Order: sequence, then structure tokens, then C-alpha cells
Amino acid sequence: MYDVIIIGGGIVGCALARELSRYRIRVALLEREVEVGFGTSKTNSGIIHAGHHAHPDTLKGQLEWIGNQMWDDLARDLNFGFSRIGELLLAMQAEDLNHLEELKKQGERKGVTGLEMWSPKRLRQEEPNLSHDILQALHAPTAGVVNPYEACFGLIECAQQNGVELFCGQPVLSITREDGGLLIHTSRQQFRGRFILNAAGVFADQVAAMVGADDFKILPRKGEEYMLDRRLQGIVTRLIFPTPTVSSKGVLIIPTVDGTIMVGPTAEDVNDREDLSTTFSGADKVFTAVRRYCPAISERDTITEFAGLRAVADSNDFVIGPSPIKGFFNVAGIQSPGLTAAPAIATYVAKMLRGEGLALDEKTDWQAKIEGPPRFALMSAEERRAAISRDPAFGRVVCRCELVTEAEVLYAIKHGARTLDGIKFRVRAGMGRCQGGFCTSRVLDLLSSTLGVPLTELTKRGRGSELFYPRDDRIAPGDGL
Ligand SMILES: Cc1cc2nc3c(=O)[nH]c(=O)nc-3n(C[C@H](O)[C@H](O)[C@H](O)COP(=O)(O)OP(=O)(O)OC[C@H]3O[C@@H](n4cnc5c(N)ncnc54)[C@H](O)[C@@H]3O)c2cc1C
Repeated sequence: MYDVIIIGGGIVGCALARELSRYRIRVALLEREVEVGFGTSKTNSGIIHAGHHAHPDTLKGQLEWIGNQMWDDLARDLNFGFSRIGELLLAMQAEDLNHLEELKKQGERKGVTGLEMWSPKRLRQEEPNLSHDILQALHAPTAGVVNPYEACFGLIECAQQNGVELFCGQPVLSITREDGGLLIHTSRQQFRGRFILNAAGVFADQVAAMVGADDFKILPRKGEEYMLDRRLQGIVTRLIFPTPTVSSKGVLIIPTVDGTIMVGPTAEDVNDREDLSTTFSGADKVFTAVRRYCPAISERDTITEFAGLRAVADSNDFVIGPSPIKGFFNVAGIQSPGLTAAPAIATYVAKMLRGEGLALDEKTDWQAKIEGPPRFALMSAEERRAAISRDPAFGRVVCRCELVTEAEVLYAIKHGARTLDGIKFRVRAGMGRCQGGFCTSRVLDLLSSTLGVPLTELTKRGRGSELFYPRDDRIAPGDGL
């Protein structure tokens, strides 16, 4: 019997797991994918929003700014990349100016610090590659960028270190009510829990329907993002936003925490909850939009692209709280700024559980920090020499584009990576210009030999993305070529 079972290992589920790991309770997290963070939390813009975007009357508006302020401590404790680079909201036409003033006032009412209007002259000094047609910009220094998948891995590692049990590859298929709790059936096991937290992202309404607690609908909204070649590093140094519309923050220029430039996302309502396709029309929308504010950006610099699905609830706000079914809580509809708000969502939900009668006694031996992965590319020459003499695997480069060594790949496998993407998102092998052309075979060899599994069992990101097939002797060499 678990005190709490979390369904879904995205940024929200992982933040919940770490928060609850502070207390003397038994917690499990069930994730349908082979690793955590493989849902929407891996496919977003990685922005910790400045705090002024969402209206303070909404739950997302309240938790956005609280969450924003929690990321410095999280990044320090869990050792992942985070940088407060600031953002600029651009006014391209006269009617945008009022909107920016309103957003400035909204932010100030919420307590967001440092908001300031910049003139075209100041803008040209600070960001010379932006268009000269911009009328003014609202600068928000509190905005930052993060590697969202690294944050998920750090949060869950810390939670596990403090006793949370993680079950990946366990899609929840049904939930039945029992005396004193709820019984969850996955494809492999059954789990009994007193409290269930439904953090299943775009599938949250379907999971809620399993117990009849689906008084909301999730409407997936797709966003396509385009990653540009590292040669564009520095073309802008802050996050660049157009003036937002009702349904979207618009197409952005995002200097990622790794020093690359990303552009996107689009915002398109879709029916298919698995539709992660990128499209010609999406690319066209993204590049037409960003060229208006930064003419030097071209689609020819794209090195890779991806799409993610925002879990937009029909109320257009976060759906967080107890449902009519005793013990079943929804933590759903976590659309943007869900990444920003995730740590605040976790403390909000913990308080709510306490209010529902769950005794939350703090552990005296709770460990806030994890060791965190080594990063050879960020080491000084002296640190590199010391690392290689300590462990010769630091001397063997696996990914040349991003300078990733064998020691880092082995560390990632030791800390839970089971797939090619699991390695890529933990250590960046395969994220550079050649997009895995050099390192894929080396990474697969290391996965296969370290885990003791044949190559045919390895996948890119779980079942259905196998990379090799067993040899079929009925097919003669050259057949079908
Ligand atoms: C293109 C795009 C850009 C965005 N940019 C930003 C941004 O810059 N800043 C920001 O703050 N927010 C941003 N967001 C929003 C942010 O990404 C989300 O709010 C956040 O990732 C939601 O996290 P989650 O944990 O709720 O969902 P998810 O990450 O989707 O996690 C849900 C998990 O539940 C699992 N699951 C589903 N069904 C089951 C089941 N039956 N059994 C077990 N497990 C299940 C899934 O596999 C998944 O891992 C963006 C979103 C998109 C799409």
C-alpha cells in the first residue's frame, strides 16, 4: 500500500516525486514510457517564464511567478543547466504598445522585478541583430532557460535517492475503487494507493475517466520547434517574444542553455494525442514570423526539428485538486507555463494532500542535492587532465560535435538511461551538427555491453522505435535493394 502514487513522469510528476520525498510516506511514480521526461516535458521551449505573462486571477498565473523563483535553488541542488538570460517582448505595431504596458503593470502587481520598457536605441545597443522596425520592447530580466529533460532526470534521481519508487514502462490501464484506497492496474502489475495524483499530461482526462473523475477535457495543441546550427550562437542573447495573442505567446527566438538557437513554437489544435510530426507549413509559419524580428535567421540553418503537445484543458487553466472520487487528485491541464510552474505545483499539491488528511512528517535525513553528471565539455584543461588520469574513459570521445566522452555515457547508463534518446538528453551525444552520424554506433555499443542486452533490443525511445532487427535468413543479401 503506497501513501501516494503519481501517474506520469513528466516535469510535474518528477517535481511532485521530489517534493513528497521530503516526508515519511511511501511514494511510487508510474510512467508509461521507458524513461521519465519523454512526454511533453522533453519537447518544449525550455523557458522559465519571467512571471508576468499569465493573468494573476488564474491558477497558472499564480503558480508561474512562484515557480520562477524556485529554479535557482533547484538547478544548484540538482546540477542542471539554468541561466537567467532575460527576455524581450517586442512591439512591432502601435497597438502592441498598450498591450506591453498592460503586461508590465500585470507583472508589477504580481511582484515580478526589473520590468522595463526599452527604446529602439537601447534595443539596438543590446541586440543589434534585431529588426530596426521594432517600436519598443518590454525587458524582463527574470526569464531564464533550462534543459527541461535534465531537470526531470535530476528531480527523479533526487526523489529516488530519498526513497521514491519509480516504475517505468508501466502504462496505467485501469483503476478500481477499494475500501481505503484505489487499485491501479498497469500492463505488468497492480499498485494500491491511498492517494493518486494524475499527472498524465495530454492523457490526463483519459486517466481521470478510468475512475469517473473526468469533468474536464484535454485539447492537445501542437507546437513545432526548429533547432539551428551553432554558428548562429549569439545572434540574440535574450529570449525574443512578439506581443502575445489570446491563444499563444507567439513564435520565439530562444537562445538555449547549451548556447544554440531554437525558433518556435507553432500553436495548432490537433485531435491526435500522438501527433508529433513537423510540417512544411509549420516551418513556414515559424521562419516567416522570426524573420520579421531577426532578418538574418534562415531555415537553411536548421539542424533538427521536433514537436510537442500542450495539454490545454477546456477551462484554459491548470486543473489541480481533489476530484469527487475520494483519494483521486487531478494535476492536469498543465499547459504553458507548466515547466516554469512545476516546482510550485508540487508544493501546492503537497499542501493540499496535508489538508486532505495525509500526515506529512519531514524526514531528518532528506537529501536535497544529487551529485549530478560530469560534463567534460565544460571542464578547464586542468580539470580534463585530472579527469582522464582518474578515469581513462574521459579520454575517449564518443560525440565529437558536443565533446562527450565515454565516461559521461557510462555515468548516464548507471543513472537510468536505457535508450538512445535517454543518452542524448542526459549527455548531449547526438545533439550536435551531425545529429548522431558519428556517435550513434558508439553509444549503442556502450548501451549493449553495459546493460548486457543485444543490439536488437535497443530502441531510440522505447517500444516501436527499435533500431535493429534480427537477421532473417530467408532473405538473401541484396534482396529488395
Ligand atoms: C511546444 C511547447 C513549448 C512549451 N514551452 C514551454 C516553456 O518554454 N515554458 C514553460 O513553462 N512551459 C512550456 N510548455 C509547457 C510545458 O512543456 C508543459 O506544461 C509541461 O511539460 C507539462 O508537464 P507534465 O508533466 O504535465 O506533462 P508530460 O511531460 O506530458 O508528462 C506526462 C507523463 O504522463 C505519462 N503518461 C500518460 N498517460 C499515462 C498512463 N496511462 N500511465 C502512466 N503514465 C502515463 C506520459 O508518458 C508523460 O511522461 C511548452 C509546451 C509545448 C508543447
